[in-house]
Amino acid sequence: MTSPRTVASLQSWSSVAKWTVFGPIACVIVSLVWNALTFSDLGAEALRRALISATILPLLLAIPLFFYLSMRLRGLAITNRKLGLVARTDSLTSCLNRGAFTARVETILADDHPVSMGALLIIDADNFKAINDLYGHDCGDEALTILARSIRSVLKPGDLIGRMGGEEFGVFMPHIDQSGAELAAERIRRVVQLAQFAPRGQPYALTVSIGGAVFADKTDFAELFRIADQRLYGAKHSGRNQAVIVHTLDQPPVQFRRSA
Ligand code: GH3
Ligand code: MG
Ligand code: MG
Repeated sequence: MTSPRTVASLQSWSSVAKWTVFGPIACVIVSLVWNALTFSDLGAEALRRALISATILPLLLAIPLFFYLSMRLRGLAITNRKLGLVARTDSLTSCLNRGAFTARVETILADDHPVSMGALLIIDADNFKAINDLYGHDCGDEALTILARSIRSVLKPGDLIGRMGGEEFGVFMPHIDQSGAELAAERIRRVVQLAQFAPRGQPYALTVSIGGAVFADKTDFAELFRIADQRLYGAKHSGRNQAVIVHTLDQPPVQFRRSA
């Protein structure tokens, strides 16, 4: 299958080709019409020469000019695309950043044909501060990249992962039901626990707590996030290293207060 990058590259080259061909042709047509009207009172031979120079001169000037300008435009478009990617990506983990993740999920949910069901998981590393305190910030950063890689390893095409901030990640899975979401959350929990992380050579088991909201009706990101976040703190409250997934239509009351 052709990658989006290859498609973008082909499109940019085809745009260069179009400008370089059609730009000079347009110049030649204008020049021909202008000369034909201006020199219509000349003899046939003089008119023929005028029309030949009206064709050749614009071609000689316009081909390099349009090629140069379209190459500059192509360069700007590529830079623009790269800047857009940087603006959407978390630099440490290469996940979508919070703004881009939220916007993508909102777009999917607000589409004219929104996905009929799906789930949002909020995944928070357990006792992450201890890693920074024990081994330093660099090891904490390494743990975050391992977390992101582990979570990504169990996702399916079409799923989205974003870093919501700090040691918290969001996963959006369209077209998944409650049991599918529970399975996926359990897979994430397990793959994180089995991930190889050995700060200063000492093996360290990372764990995550997961809160999830499953929907099968019209909803929005704010509602899903609120429910998933409540359940995440339920999972923390119940001892960490576990997943609590609920359906938006079936939410048992939360029995705890979120700690400051
Ligand atoms: P809990 O199980 O309740 O979630 O405890 P916790 O320690 O994971 O949560 P807490 O909110 O107390 O601490 C989160 C820590 O994550 C504190 C902060 O320094 C660390 N952190 C946030 N972002 C980064 C980062 O980009 N790099 C590193 N190394 N640490 C980070
Ligand atoms: Mg945490
Ligand atoms: Mg947190």
